[in-house]
Amino acid sequence: MEDLLEKWKENAESDYSENRSFLHTLKNNPNVDALSKAAHQEVFAKADCLACANCCKTTPAIVERSDIKRIAKFLGIPPKVFSRKYLLEDFGGEMVVQRVPCTFLNEDNTCQIYEVRPKACREYPHTDQTHFHRRAKMNAKNTLVCPAAYAIVERLKAVTKY
Ligand code: SF4
Ligand code: SF4
Repeated sequence: MEDLLEKWKENAESDYSENRSFLHTLKNNPNVDALSKAAHQEVFAKADCLACANCCKTTPAIVERSDIKRIAKFLGIPPKVFSRKYLLEDFGGEMVVQRVPCTFLNEDNTCQIYEVRPKACREYPHTDQTHFHRRAKMNAKNTLVCPAAYAIVERLKAVTKY
């Protein structure tokens, strides 16, 4: 994981433009989903999110209606109280956690609500989901936040000989 973090710290910003351009070229690759899933598995087999937690520290997690019910039940409070206490509506009209670093992030990078965490947290950085090429903009942005997302894009560049 240290390697992954170091490479990301040193190169993610300077590689950003190239990575964004590369991710846009993937719309022409019929194998993109299989390649991105393989790269995701390979990178996350080595990644240690507990040594990082950069997503939880920097990006307000999206919380969907179904998440609210589940998390509120876990915390033993009514959904309305949970929403009022922990969430706000962002510019796009989505509900997100009020604070970054996330209120539910512990000092040791564990999550206080891990078992019931929002779907967006469970799926982040979304690199193993279908239609990878349709999320070029978001995938590029995530390389600046997530060392694993950065490594996945690097892996994809290598296997597609970009
Ligand atoms: S809810 Fe948990 S996993 Fe999601 S951002 Fe907060 S600390 Fe991270
Ligand atoms: S930013 Fe990426 S590598 Fe870091 S904790 Fe989040 S998902 Fe894991």
